[in-house]
Amino acid sequence: KLHNTILELKGNIRVFCRVRPLLPEDGPGAEVTVSYPTSMESAGRGIDLIHNGQKHPFTFDKVFAHNTSQQEVFMEISQLVQSALDGYKVCIFAYGQTGSGKTYTMMGRPEAPQQKGLIPRSLEQVFETSQSLSVQGWKYKMQASMLEIYNETIRDLLSVRSSSVDLARLEIGGAGKQYAIRHDADGNTYVSDLTIVDVCSIKEVSILLQQAAQSRSVGKTDMNEHSSRSHFVFTLRISGVNESTEQQVQGVLNLIDLAGTERPSRSGATGERLKETQGSDIRDAYNAQAINKSLSSLSDVIFALAKKEDHVPFRNSKLTYLLQPCLGGDSKTLMFVNVSPDPSSVNESLCSLRFAARVN
Ligand code: ADP
Ligand code: MG
Repeated sequence: KLHNTILELKGNIRVFCRVRPLLPEDGPGAEVTVSYPTSMESAGRGIDLIHNGQKHPFTFDKVFAHNTSQQEVFMEISQLVQSALDGYKVCIFAYGQTGSGKTYTMMGRPEAPQQKGLIPRSLEQVFETSQSLSVQGWKYKMQASMLEIYNETIRDLLSVRSSSVDLARLEIGGAGKQYAIRHDADGNTYVSDLTIVDVCSIKEVSILLQQAAQSRSVGKTDMNEHSSRSHFVFTLRISGVNESTEQQVQGVLNLIDLAGTERPSRSGATGERLKETQGSDIRDAYNAQAINKSLSSLSDVIFALAKKEDHVPFRNSKLTYLLQPCLGGDSKTLMFVNVSPDPSSVNESLCSLRFAARVN
């Protein structure tokens, strides 16, 4: 389209795999579950998972080993982020089991500059670039919204009431709000009653991100459980007008921290699940075990898109319907499959990698 963004996309969906480092809480057993092939064709793209002494090789568009920094990961997505300023619709997902590093990848630890994740880094870049393009006559307007999908219910994380002082009494999302999703003919998405905030600087968005984090945790006795079962969707709408050429662009940047892929009940499930996914019908096996409807629908949609099927079941869940214009057409989608090297996670890791390999 415009500027100088040239992205070679094989289909519309790319998959990056990121392995988190072993953590002290992973317990004993520095047993190696993950290794990286060094052969010419798979260097930087291959990952081998060792499961019961058996090696399972996978290849993705990119593999980030455990020691890859946030900055290094960001370097690989910065072009994609850039294309939202050129008028593309962009979706970046983090997919994986709870504890695999999704939130670290997307948000990171914003208080530690080195460990900031993709959301703050992307926003910094978007604001910096939009400013530098003003010498060429470009004027941009940015609007942010943040929502959460929990149990097929949308919650507005920026509703005015959630910034009120009396947080304990707050009802996030506002009583009686519908949050009905609607798309117009131009592929613009509207969610009724959803708060949309004009933003001009990274500082303003940072405040909103903090507000969203606070909204997510209000009234949650178990914040970990809640965040592992809900999807966090950050959306930045970008409208650009060139005052000298009168060109116009409408881009969207969606950054999504998905719910954990593990099923809610823990014990005993994994062996059985693994057996099932060894069959050819990985999609059904996956769906039967999915933690929530939006997550299983997302996998259906992504499989259908990857296979270029005629019917893509966007309408089956809130998440897929919300993101429909940003998943189909000439939009750009990137999925991170996050993997933990903890030996006790190896079953889930294998499921995640198998799922992601199908997408790719
Ligand atoms: P998830 O959101 O998938 O549940 P988290 O992002 O919360 O997982 O990661 C689990 C733990 O691992 C957190 O303590 C997080 O800080 C840490 N972690 C994840 N990825 C990395 C990484 N690449 N480098 C350092 N620590 C990480
Ligand atoms: Mg998380």
